[in-house]
Amino acid sequence: MFLSVTTTHRPATDLGYLLRKNPARMHETELSFGRALTVYPEASEDRCTAALVLDVDPIGLVRGKGDAGGLMDQYVNDRPYAASSFLSVAMGRAWREAIAGQSKDRQALADAAIPLAASVTPLPARGGADLVRDLFVPLGYEVTVEPIALDPVRTDWGDSPYVALTLKATTRLSALLTHLYVLIPVLDDRKHYFVGDDELQKLMAKGDGWLEDHPLKELIVNRYLKHRRSLVQDALAQLAGDEGEAETALDAAPKDTAEATIETPLRLHDLRLDTVAQRLKDLGAKRILDLGCGEAKLIRRLVQEKQFEEIVGVEVSSVSLARADERLKRLPELQRARITLLHGALIYRDQRLRGYDAAALVEVIEHVEPDRLDHLERAVFGDARPDAVIVTTPNADYNALFPTLPAGRFRHADHRFEWTRAEFEAWCARIGEDYGYRWTTEPLGPVDDAHGAPSQMAVFQR
Ligand code: SAH
Repeated sequence: MFLSVTTTHRPATDLGYLLRKNPARMHETELSFGRALTVYPEASEDRCTAALVLDVDPIGLVRGKGDAGGLMDQYVNDRPYAASSFLSVAMGRAWREAIAGQSKDRQALADAAIPLAASVTPLPARGGADLVRDLFVPLGYEVTVEPIALDPVRTDWGDSPYVALTLKATTRLSALLTHLYVLIPVLDDRKHYFVGDDELQKLMAKGDGWLEDHPLKELIVNRYLKHRRSLVQDALAQLAGDEGEAETALDAAPKDTAEATIETPLRLHDLRLDTVAQRLKDLGAKRILDLGCGEAKLIRRLVQEKQFEEIVGVEVSSVSLARADERLKRLPELQRARITLLHGALIYRDQRLRGYDAAALVEVIEHVEPDRLDHLERAVFGDARPDAVIVTTPNADYNALFPTLPAGRFRHADHRFEWTRAEFEAWCARIGEDYGYRWTTEPLGPVDDAHGAPSQMAVFQR
């Protein structure tokens, strides 16, 4: 099995610094299940390719001497030939610094997006070529998947379950390698080693910055963690970030196969964000404030829509703001240019926020101390005074339905209150009255007859 990485960033031979392997030589890395060779089939100023060639000892595997333990019970299997978790382990060993994005001699280059192409072959594609595309396209790659015939001579035998994959993008080498590191075993779906808590931690570390927003994150997590239910639930809760714990436990419950996870409903937070984006669109708003924007999840949705000409995110936490900025950097220049991030607290009046068409407060008000909430109301509805304001907040009536949430507890440690539907209605009525907005409310998420939906939303208009 074979993985190659090519760059045309000049001088291309600097790839050797990123991999810490001199292009003039061949490099061997010993592994418990065989060895990995790093070789450079081409190395010029204009173009340099490094290949990782894996030489797995099949007999050693079967005898249980390598990392594979006794899992390989036949002498004849595809493990020595197909790109799999073995290739990830080999990459992790042979190209460790490059995956981590560290370079002793060329750190600026390691941090830079450079033109890169990667090929992996043969790659087992359980789920088919479409799944390969669905995994890599959302990460910004130009993807080519070529089926590999079962037998090159007997083409009438059809295609094998393997493909040759090529990815192209202008990105950081560490991002490319990290995506491959996680997604090759996901496509193979047959990890060769036992999966435990360390793998969960590894997935969280390697998935940082991309996995939480990947449309197939549930499939990725399920397959990566070998469908181990408790690990999968932990992983999804961690990826959902601060808001997700109780909710994820709820909607992760009925899953056991990876394929089934694709068809399960969207996570609640995605649903909220999609609904808010749609309402903003329906309102005809062009200039938008995202108040308490967190890591810019809503902004990243809004910017895909041309109607939203100017989007301003306001956030009090500098950590969240830095993460938002980091994510937005990856957008195309023209999209990024429509976004401004502001560091600010919503309980203070802020002239910069005046004159917008609409503002969104998605799961923000419940983070504000009840005795400070009137300051936020005055600053947003009284002073910034956008034409429309959309507010979402948890529905406390629904908490009884979260199996992991003890009675009387909030969904998140940082929530200062959670309102019942009646309390939210009363608040909306008072805001409408005090600040001159008409308003409607609606449930957000699947509605339970007795307890309503998990979240609630109000749309205020002047
Ligand atoms: N709206 C985002 C984040 C929700 S979490 C989303 O839907 O993904 C709530 C966010 O509100 C946190 O990022 C928190 O830092 C921010 N926040 C809480 N109080 C704030 C205040 N007074 N001013 C600005 N942001 C605040």
